[in-house]
Amino acid sequence: MSAASRDPLTRGQDLAPELLQTLQRFIDEAVIPAEDLKLAHDHAAQAAVVARLQGQALALGLGSPRRAVTDGGLGLSWEACCDYLEQAGRSFLGPAVLQCAPPTQPDVYALDVLATPSQRRAYLDPLKAGTRKSCFAMTEPAPGAGSDPRMLKTEARQEGGQWVINGHKWFITGAHQADFAIVVARTDDGVSWFLVDADTPGFEIVRDVPTMEPFDMGGHAEIRLTNCRVGADALVGEAGKGLDHAQLRLEGARLFHCMRFIGLASRAMHLAQRHVQQRESHGARLAEHQMVQALVADAHIQLFAARVMTREVARQLDRGESIRHSSSMAKVFVSEAVYQVADSAVQICGALGVSEDLPLSMILRMLRPFRIYDGASEVHRSAIAKRAFRHDLRP
Ligand SMILES: Cc1cc2nc3c(=O)[nH]c(=O)nc-3n(C[C@H](O)[C@H](O)[C@H](O)COP(=O)(O)OP(=O)(O)OC[C@H]3O[C@@H](n4cnc5c(N)ncnc54)[C@H](O)[C@@H]3O)c2cc1C
Repeated sequence: MSAASRDPLTRGQDLAPELLQTLQRFIDEAVIPAEDLKLAHDHAAQAAVVARLQGQALALGLGSPRRAVTDGGLGLSWEACCDYLEQAGRSFLGPAVLQCAPPTQPDVYALDVLATPSQRRAYLDPLKAGTRKSCFAMTEPAPGAGSDPRMLKTEARQEGGQWVINGHKWFITGAHQADFAIVVARTDDGVSWFLVDADTPGFEIVRDVPTMEPFDMGGHAEIRLTNCRVGADALVGEAGKGLDHAQLRLEGARLFHCMRFIGLASRAMHLAQRHVQQRESHGARLAEHQMVQALVADAHIQLFAARVMTREVARQLDRGESIRHSSSMAKVFVSEAVYQVADSAVQICGALGVSEDLPLSMILRMLRPFRIYDGASEVHRSAIAKRAFRHDLRP
């Protein structure tokens, strides 16, 4: 079942132009100035800054974009989210401040569809209120599941009315701050989801896995589950439907990543454009060299195409259509385009581009992993081509 057909917030609202302007000003005047590049890997420092800015954002009426108005959000349509998330995404901190960052945003989205009333009370409501934090634990070290979820090795077996979970996970974003994990495990019926509190005996964070990503709030953790016992009520959704649930969680998450990262890439090229209008080489401003102009023009073309694609997929979601194929295509295109744009921005700024005097090199590092998570480009291309052959799709 697609994300669209199970979305609890079926008809979202438009984004008022005044609110978008307020957001733009807030990002420029409060959020970007609060980025301290020297603290890019200090989770505690970032959490403190984000908490302070969240209060300011709420006072300005800048809530969580996709969450229902009755839940304190803005209840925006997917299409309206394109503009909101692009603005929020211009800053490394913006998505967390505006409560539209992973893993919380896609976890809320999936649990809103799947959680039982008691799971809503214990997990979803506090997650929405920001009083509890989550992480989503699916990926495993070899020989476990990465690109191929069928290789899942983590197991959950029933024993005396409880589930006993054993497994090994890694790259679990936000795990260091999480109060609970959504653990994906193999059961007799197939693959299932479980809610596991972080203080459950046998749930152990082994280490942070350092990555190239800056501002990786909550880090990316390696986790071991050893005879982790949870109640029968820890099962999320239907037993054996865990891969469908993952698809539900991922489709919207992918689109939100595209929206945010268009903002970050756009910021990178805007900074670079300003730089090349000042800096001179070989008797002319860099902006007057045609090869520099070509890189700037290509960046505008790529971001224009990325925005159009993302918006079209968002509209499909608003219409309740399946986005399995289109979101795959958009994810591949946008993840590669935003990286290319940031790479060009670094290139035309020369050594300054790779330094940490400007945020460009960090933007590049932030964007690079997007070609791997939420489905590597190669895996999406393979799925797109298989669907094209299977259904004789016209390109
Ligand atoms: C920053 C970051 C955050 C992450 N956060 C989370 C998280 O919160 N929770 C979570 O569960 N996971 C998370 N992940 C893990 C992510 O989901 C996996 O990295 C992804 O599923 C790919 O798995 P893998 O890394 O094991 O790559 P592998 O499966 O080992 O694949 C390696 C490469 O092989 C190629 N490849 C693989 N299969 C195919 C194929 N069929 N055809 C062609 N080429 C192929 C691709 O180039 C791929 O990149 C995160 C990863 C990163 C980098």
